[in-house]
Amino acid sequence: MALNGKVAIVTGASLGIGSAIAVRLAREGASVTIDYHTHRDAAGTVAGQISGAGGRALMVQADVADVTSVGNLVNQTVAAFGRLDILVNNAGIEQPARLVDVTEEMFERQIAVDLKGPYFAMQAAARRFITQGSGGVIINISSVHEDLPMVGNAVYCAAKGGLRMLTRTLAPELARNQIRIVNVGPGAIATPINTATLNDPQKKAALLAEIPLARIGNPDDVAAAVAWLASDDASYVTGTTLFIDGGLMVSAGGL
Ligand code: NAP
Repeated sequence: MALNGKVAIVTGASLGIGSAIAVRLAREGASVTIDYHTHRDAAGTVAGQISGAGGRALMVQADVADVTSVGNLVNQTVAAFGRLDILVNNAGIEQPARLVDVTEEMFERQIAVDLKGPYFAMQAAARRFITQGSGGVIINISSVHEDLPMVGNAVYCAAKGGLRMLTRTLAPELARNQIRIVNVGPGAIATPINTATLNDPQKKAALLAEIPLARIGNPDDVAAAVAWLASDDASYVTGTTLFIDGGLMVSAGGL
């Protein structure tokens, strides 16, 4: 198994893409900390799935927008599993709204969860990786919208665009410590975050028309890419984004 003996944290692992990543990393041999925010029962189901298959899972409640909680997430992981090798910054929210309707509170929450959270999680993980002295991998679940504008969702796009620049800027800074940072940019993936769009036949048809592979992705499509990027098979990959989008970026005018 590609990740035998490795220890991973997956933020927002109670639902959607994060839960699929946690299960997949465990299947590849990693011990996994499942961070959740509100859905404790769902996180418990993910942990049960991992331990039921013979893996090791730890549940930790942490709001990634809170820097102290993020530090605690790393500390609890190290206390339970002895080390840290992989951080997956997956937790994210979307609050679509037009410029004229966005409140200061909405703006600050979006940026706190989708940009500040990943930044301080990277800081906490990098400090641990440097102390251990054996490198590490950080994978940020960004979006096609780190590059592609989405009308009516500017703050989300700004947060993901910021995540793109964090990865591009921090990768060379941390390379001397053999720490890799890579973004994974999903396209349209069927999860609770976009249930409203996918349940609207007109919106779904419009979306499908933009995807060359003509299907909505599923969380396992993203999890497979994360498992590869976390492994030594991707040891020469850093500072870039891998889009998992059925070709959406190249048909919708991104890049
Ligand atoms: P989702 O189904 O809504 O799940 C979001 C996860 O993030 C949940 O586990 C949630 O935990 C957690 N979370 C939310 N706020 C948090 C916070 N403050 N602290 C810690 N955890 C928090 O979303 P998803 O579709 O799987 O999205 C996962 C990531 O992929 C996000 O970063 C999203 O932007 C990105 N993405 C998704 C798509 C897509 O089409 N689905 C496309 C591009 C990018 P609780 O439920 O426990 O609160």
